[in-house]
Amino acid sequence: MRIAFIGLGNMGAPMAINLHKAGHQVSAFDLSADACRKLADAGIAIAASAAASTHDAEAVLTMLPASQHVEGLYLGQNGDGGLLAQLPAGTLVIDSSTIAAASARKVADAARARGLDFIDAPVSGGTGGAIAGTLTFMVGGEPTALERARPLLEKLGQNIFHAGGAGAGQTAKICNNMLLGILMIGTSEALALGVANGLDPKVLSEIMRRSSGGNWALEKYNPFPGVMEAAPASKGYAGGFGTDLMLKDLGLAQESATAVKAATPLGGLARSLYAAHSLAGHGAQDFSSVIRLLQKG
Ligand code: NAD
Repeated sequence: MRIAFIGLGNMGAPMAINLHKAGHQVSAFDLSADACRKLADAGIAIAASAAASTHDAEAVLTMLPASQHVEGLYLGQNGDGGLLAQLPAGTLVIDSSTIAAASARKVADAARARGLDFIDAPVSGGTGGAIAGTLTFMVGGEPTALERARPLLEKLGQNIFHAGGAGAGQTAKICNNMLLGILMIGTSEALALGVANGLDPKVLSEIMRRSSGGNWALEKYNPFPGVMEAAPASKGYAGGFGTDLMLKDLGLAQESATAVKAATPLGGLARSLYAAHSLAGHGAQDFSSVIRLLQKG
């Protein structure tokens, strides 16, 4: 299949590489020249612009930071100049960025009006899952569009869920990430407490991992440096999932909660803690660096 892949950051780069390895013809683009260079080194064709990457494409995939980037790319400024207006009817469009459900519905409506098949398909599994091709996809949109996308998603992930109509994938993703943001702080708090009381972080992590406190952070993404070699914590919190991206997701969760008067007290507190961590200069570091807020010195 001829695929345009736009957004080649921590997640997009390994996803584009997996599609290329699976034999698809990938034309990639990112605003960052560095990001493009890494993909060119992996043998992937780099286009001169987002629009150029979609030339002849049967499917377009995007992996961008936030709502404004996705709306800006697909809808353009003031409703014109966007990518959707240039794509031939029938093109499959998959947005895997984590954005507001309302933004996803706005783009889906515009895509439908143009005769395009659009799904919101945000992912879970982190950069490790993106590299290994084991992501979980949470899809919102028409079942027929999902079935067209399924062969591509299967090259990138292991679990593909249809959450409901347009925007439903984003709502599911926001619920999951609110829980993840809270879990990472709870895990950090427990580890910092144990270590301050003289425990070895590796020993404590293993005890909690196999006990009733076990969770994804302890399984795959330990926030304490040196406990898990492959985790961002052991690489100076570089790469991974940025604190500012987690902050964005927790903000989206609070917006969703406000809209339906839901009570999300821990989600609200978690958002404030990541915001304080970001203000202290850690916005670009992996979100597991939030443990620094809770450690001595
Ligand atoms: P990132 O910041 O590493 O990468 C985003 C890329 O998009 C950057 O390279 C940037 O230059 C590019 N970009 C921005 N606007 C663009 C445009 N108009 N045209 C082309 N390129 C553009 O972010 P990431 O960690 O790869 O995350 C991407 C999305 O996936 C976010 O919505 C994030 O919340 C979500 N997500 C991330 C993870 C993770 O572990 N990193 C996990 C699940 C979901």
